[in-house]
Amino acid sequence: MAEHSTIHAQSTFLPPIKQLVGITLLLALLSGAASALNLNSWHAGGVTILWPSNGFLLGVLLCTYRRRWPALLLLGYLVDLGINFFLDHFTLGHLTATSFYISLCNMLEVYLAAMFLYKIISPNPDLTRRRQLFALLFYGVVLAPAVAAFLASFGLSGTFSIPELHSFQEWFTADGLGVAIVTPLYLSYHQREHFPDRTWPEILTLFTVLIAVTVGIFYQTSYPFLFLVIPSLLVLGMRLRLAGSALGLLIVCIIGGFLTTANHGPVALTPNSTLTHRALILQFFVAVSMLVLYIIEVLKAESSRLQFNLQTSETRFRLLAEVSRDIIVLSDLNGRRRYVSPAATEVLGWLPTELVGDTYHQIVHPEDLPALEHLFDQCRAGSNLNVLSYRCLAKDGSYLWVEANVRLYRDGITGQPVGFVNVVRDIASRKAAEDELNKAVHVAESLASLDGLTGIANRRRLDEVLNQEWRRAMRDHTPISLLILDVDLFKRYNDLYGHLQGDECLRAIAQTANAIVQRTSDLLARYGGEEFVVVLPNTDSHGACSIAEQIRHAVEDCRLPHEANSPKHITVSIGCATHAPQIDTTYDILFAAADQALYRAKAAGRNRTEVAAEVPLQILQQR
Ligand code: GH3
Ligand code: MG
Ligand code: MG
Repeated sequence: MAEHSTIHAQSTFLPPIKQLVGITLLLALLSGAASALNLNSWHAGGVTILWPSNGFLLGVLLCTYRRRWPALLLLGYLVDLGINFFLDHFTLGHLTATSFYISLCNMLEVYLAAMFLYKIISPNPDLTRRRQLFALLFYGVVLAPAVAAFLASFGLSGTFSIPELHSFQEWFTADGLGVAIVTPLYLSYHQREHFPDRTWPEILTLFTVLIAVTVGIFYQTSYPFLFLVIPSLLVLGMRLRLAGSALGLLIVCIIGGFLTTANHGPVALTPNSTLTHRALILQFFVAVSMLVLYIIEVLKAESSRLQFNLQTSETRFRLLAEVSRDIIVLSDLNGRRRYVSPAATEVLGWLPTELVGDTYHQIVHPEDLPALEHLFDQCRAGSNLNVLSYRCLAKDGSYLWVEANVRLYRDGITGQPVGFVNVVRDIASRKAAEDELNKAVHVAESLASLDGLTGIANRRRLDEVLNQEWRRAMRDHTPISLLILDVDLFKRYNDLYGHLQGDECLRAIAQTANAIVQRTSDLLARYGGEEFVVVLPNTDSHGACSIAEQIRHAVEDCRLPHEANSPKHITVSIGCATHAPQIDTTYDILFAAADQALYRAKAAGRNRTEVAAEVPLQILQQR
C-alpha cells in the first residue's frame, strides 16, 4: 500500500502541496527582498544588482522529476508576474503588458539552464565536482541569462542597440549572479549538507563577523577597503564549505548592494561614476570572490576525496594483508624483510617484529637455501611463475613445510625493481596428505603388481620388467635369460589332494624358487596357473641353467608328496632360453624358445631342465 502510494506520488505531475506552498513563499520572499534592494537602486537611478529567484527555481527544478517542471515553471511564472505587476504598480503607478513578456523570459532562462544541467547535476548534485561546477557556471550563470537577457531587451524594443545593450548587461549580470549564488545554496540545502561538523555557536559567530565586517566596510566611505571582505568570506568558505560561501556572498551582495546604492562604501569612492557603474563594480567584486571561493572549495574537496580514497585503499589492502592466512612478506632486493603480515605468528610462531629487518637465511632450512636463492635469481631475471616448497623454521624449533610465491615489485614511478612480494603458505598439512597419498599409491601399485596367491610378482609386473630388461640388453649388448617352470602333473595333484592343497603347494614352490632368485635385477613371477617365469638379466646360458637346476633341486628337496608323480613328490620341469637381443626384436622370441624347451622337458619325461636350441643344447643331468 505504502509502495503503491509512493509510486503514485512519483508519477504525478504536481509536487506535494506542502512543497508548492513552500516554493511559492520562498520565490515571493526572494523576489520581494531582491526588489526591495533593486528598487532602492532603481530609485537612485541605478541598475538591478541581484535577481535571486531564478537561481532558486533552477535549484528546485534540478532536484525534481522532469514531469513536474511544467507545473513548477507555471508557478514561477505566476509569482514572477505578481511581483512584476507589483513593481509596475510601484514604479510606474500602473500595470504594463511587458510584465508578461519579462516573466516569460525569466522562466525561459530557468528552463534553458535546467535542461542543460539536468543530466549533469541532477543524478548526484555535488558542486564540489569540477564538471558540475563548470557546467553550472557555463550554462546557468552565462548561457541561460545571456539568452534571456537578449530576448528581453530585444523583445521589448524590437532592436538591439546601445541602450538595449545596457539593459542586456543589467539583466545578464543580476541573473547570472543570482544563479551563481542561490542555486549552490539551494542544492546544498536540499542535500542536507548544510554546515557539516560545525556547531551552531561557531556558525552564528562566523556569520555575525561577516555581517559586521561587511556593514563596516560598506558603510564607511573614506577608504577603498573592499578587499577586507575577502578574509572573512574565505574563513566562512573554509569552515562552512560551499553552502557557507554561497550564503556569505548573498549577504555581501545584499548589504553591499543596499549601502552602495545609498552612496556608501568603497565602491562609492570611484570618481565620476554613475550608480550603474558602481553596481557593476560591486557585481564584479562578488562574481570574482565567488569564483575564487568556489574554486578553492573544488580543490579542497578534490584533495579530501583523494585522501579519502587513499585511506580507504590503504585500509583495504592492510585488511587484506592482515586477515590473510598466508604470510605476506615484502622484502628488498637482497631479501631483507621490510614488512611481515601478522599471519607469521599464527603459522610459525614468530612475531612480525622478530622477522622484519632480517633475511631468509634466518629461518629457511639450510638444505632448501640454494633452491630459494635460485628462485630469487629467477625472479630478478623477470620470471613470472616463482613457486617453491621449502622448510621454514618455526619459533618452537621445528621445521614447517611452506610454499612461497615470489614476485618482483617495481617502483610505481621509475619502474625500477625495488623488492619482492612473497606470499608464504603453510603446506604442512598438504604435505602430510601428499605423503599419505604417495604411500597409498605405492601400496596400490605394488598390490597391482603382485600375485594374490603366492605374493610374488604377477604377470603384469613380469611384462613390465621383461620389456625393460630386454631393451637394456639390446642397448648394452648383454645376454638375457628366461626360465619357464611348470609343475609336473599338477592336474593330478589337485585331483588327489584338492585345490586348497594345490594352492598351498604353489605357494611353497614360489617361496622355494624365490629363495634362489636373489639378484636384485632378477625377477620371479607367476605366469599363470602352475607356471612360473624367472627373468635373469645379464645372465648367459650357463648361468641360467645353473639357476634353473638350483630351483628344480630345491623344489624336489621339499619332498612335497605327490603320489601320482613317479618320484612320489612334487617336481618341476624347466625350459630355459638365452638371447643377446638384436635391434628391433621383441622378447616374444625368448619366450617362445623357453616354452619350446619346456615342452621338450615335458616330453623327455619331466623333472628336468631343457635349454633352447639357439644356444648350445645341453640337457642337464637328471639327478
Ligand atoms: P604337466 O606335467 O604336463 O604340466 O601336467 P599338468 O597336469 O601340470 O598339466 P596342465 O597344464 O594340463 O594342468 C595344470 C593344472 O594346474 C590345471 C589346474 O588344475 C592346475 N592349476 C592351475 N592354476 C591353479 C591354481 O591356482 N591353484 C590350483 N590348486 N591349481 C591350479
Ligand atoms: Mg601347465
Ligand atoms: Mg604342469
